Order: sequence, then C-alpha cells, then structure tokens
Amino acid sequence: MLLNGKRGVVFGVANKRSLAWAIARRASEHGASLALTYQGERIEENVRELAEGLNDPLILPCDVSKDQELDAAFAAIKDRFGGLDFLVHAVAFARKEELEGEYLNTSREGYRLAQEISSYSLCAMARLAAPLMEGHPSSILALTYLGGERVIPHYNVMGVAKAALDMSVRYLAADLGPRGIRVNAISAGPIKTLASAGIRGFSRILEHMREHAPLRRNVDQSEVADSALFLLSDLSRGVTGEILHVDSGYHIVGM
Ligand code: NAD
Repeated sequence: MLLNGKRGVVFGVANKRSLAWAIARRASEHGASLALTYQGERIEENVRELAEGLNDPLILPCDVSKDQELDAAFAAIKDRFGGLDFLVHAVAFARKEELEGEYLNTSREGYRLAQEISSYSLCAMARLAAPLMEGHPSSILALTYLGGERVIPHYNVMGVAKAALDMSVRYLAADLGPRGIRVNAISAGPIKTLASAGIRGFSRILEHMREHAPLRRNVDQSEVADSALFLLSDLSRGVTGEILHVDSGYHIVGM
C-alpha cells in the first residue's frame, strides 16, 4: 500500500488501454483516493464505466486547453480532498495530418495545438496544483516519449512538443523543489493506445523496438504503471527532474 492516505488526480483516461488508466488503477490498488478527468462527453461514459471499480473517485470534465475548465477541476479537487499529493499528466494531442509526411510541413495552428495541449498544459496544471501540494511531500508525473529526444519517423510535431514537455519537467522541478514538490516524467516505449494509433507506421515502430531493444520486447501499460507507482510514492522521495525510460532499454541503442 505505497499510496495509502494519498490524494491524486489523473488527467488523460480515455479508455481501458490508456496509460493514465493503468496508472490510476495501480494507484487505487495502493490505497490512493483519486480524481479522474476526461475530455468531452464522448469519453465521459467510458471513464465512468472504468471508474466503477475504484473507491468512490471524483470524476470531472476537463479540456486542458481551457483555463476555466482547469480552474473548475482544481476547485472541485480542493473541495473534495482539501489538498493533493500527486498529479499525473497523461495528455497529448496532435492533428492526424501532422503525424504523417514531413515535419517540414507542420502548420502554425497544428504546432500551436500540439504544444498547448501536450506541453503547456503541464505548466498550467502544476501552477494550480502547487498550492494544494505545499507543506507535504508531493509528486507530479508526466508521460513523454523518445521522439522528444531523437527523430522518430512520423512523430514530427509531437516530438517537438515532447521536447518542450521534457524541459518543462526540469524547469518545474527547479521551481517547485523548494516547496517539497517533485516533478518527473516517464518516457514510455511505444504501446498501442488511442493516441498512438494516430501515428503512421506505428506497428513498424513496435516491431523495430522488439528487434533492437536490449530486452528484445515491447513494454505494456502495467510496466509503465509500476514505474509510475515508484515515482508517485515516497520510494522516490530523493528523485526530481528525472526522465525515467520504461522502454526495454531501447533509448540506449545506437543502431
Ligand atoms: P490515450 O489516447 O489513451 O491518452 C491520451 C489522452 O489525452 C486521452 O485521454 C485524451 O482524451 C487526452 N486529451 C487529448 N486532448 C486533450 C485535451 N484538450 N484536454 C484534455 N485531455 C485531452 O493515449 P496514451 O498513449 O495513453 O497517452 C497518454 C500519454 O502517454 C500521452 O502524453 C502520450 O504522448 C504518452 N505516451 C504514449 C506512448 C504510447 O506509445 N502509447 C508512449 C510514450 C508516451
């Protein structure tokens, strides 16, 4: 029970394959009280159905590109829990047409959208979470991908957004460390989800990882959730500003 008595919010559950859902489930198994947010009515039913297995979660709408929805979500969290011990940011978006062809052709609007939803939102969330986290050890966790460090075919504008997200993790860790709030990210290997389905050639990326990663296999949601449990819990109390690769070691391979 590594999260016994801890209160957390998880952004980014869309369906049972979502990394956010795997993390939420694991956090709940370890005793956390949870708020889950969803984007839009289309996803609400899924999230409510999944959440039936959790212990009385708070379920809130939140489009992270809208300040008023973020404000309302954190106000509701404060009402219910009084404070917050952890936050999971598992949200990303880029237009499908920007995830095929060349990065060269990224539109101004496509670039703005990817940055705003996939990267800036972490900063906005951290600002709202910090007053609820001050005074006790707390943890913020984002989900990132190797495409923010290296060129991965078709990841394009999302790779540029992940590079910004990775640096946001470090700047936020520096800002919030003195208040006892840690900020880290998991760089997950490729896993089939709704978001990754939008990337052209994704099956080839999975196959390449299976062939070349030191562990010679792909990773799954449960492995990401286990590492998330470590980063959200006091086991990682000395760790901040870190990007932990949960990718069968693929990130160390040169060819
Ligand atoms: P997913 O589709 O299940 O999750 C993405 C979530 O982002 C969805 O819940 C979606 O509703 C949410 N979202 C998009 N726009 C939003 C907005 N404006 N407001 C609020 N929510 C919004 O896919 P996933 O693969 O579980 O993605 C979760 C995170 O993990 C993302 O940051 C993704 O980049 C990252 N990641 C995924 C992989 C992978 O291969 N699946 C690998 C590394 C990192």
